[in-house]
Amino acid sequence: MNGRIALIGIPLDVNSSYLRGPAKGPFALVEALHCESANLWTETGHDLSGVLDHRGIVDLGDADQAFGRIEEAARKAGESGSAPIFLGGDHSITYPLAKGLKAAVGDFAILHFDAHPDCYHEFEGNPHSHACPFARIMEERLCERLVSVGIRTANGHQREQRAKFGIQWLEMKDRANWPTLSFDTPVYLSVDLDVLDPAFAPGLSHHEPGGMTTREVLDVIHAVDAPVIGADMVELNPDRDRDSVTAMAGAKILREIAGMMLLHCP
Ligand code: MN
Ligand code: MN
Repeated sequence: MNGRIALIGIPLDVNSSYLRGPAKGPFALVEALHCESANLWTETGHDLSGVLDHRGIVDLGDADQAFGRIEEAARKAGESGSAPIFLGGDHSITYPLAKGLKAAVGDFAILHFDAHPDCYHEFEGNPHSHACPFARIMEERLCERLVSVGIRTANGHQREQRAKFGIQWLEMKDRANWPTLSFDTPVYLSVDLDVLDPAFAPGLSHHEPGGMTTREVLDVIHAVDAPVIGADMVELNPDRDRDSVTAMAGAKILREIAGMMLLHCP
């Protein structure tokens, strides 16, 4: 890792199941990141001024080209030597992102934050729904280990999928007894902002009460004990946001992810 963080927008929301809107997420996140109400220092003590490399928005082409374009963008980002943070978009983008990044950087674990397990075999007939990325990732063995944090909506099918694929869940109902995580491979972070309680993050399509505080998410990210080689932040729906509260929460988490990338930078 060359000490630079690449920010890459993926404005895709055609695989959302309930509402459109996350395609506008990348723009709202970048705007919040540079809002003059905050600075670009991280709690890890890193100044992100001059470190962030804004690479704009990926041209997704036609609907049937989008996943190929996303995979290609992830591979190129990985090969560039910078640590990429991909700004979604709905959660369907994590499958092509993982595929492209694995081709460039090799093995990694995925630390996934979400109210939802997103491991349906298919959802509403769409195997590439935003409810399915981790089924595709596990089928193709694109990660060494998957840990999903903040889960609170698992149905019978998704519980079967967890057992089938060996996914580790840190469920909200067990919040008081979560183990400390330790990784023996580099880590990719996939942050669905609906992991946050709707009180902290109204700007999301799926409001699922009983979620994490912004501080709790930051604490889990700060505790990662391995290099963070890439990340995505997905599902921000600016149409549902109030006074940019959710975008600012996302920007805060983005800064700390960048700080962790720099903390373990060789
Ligand atoms: Mn998700
Ligand atoms: Mn979700």
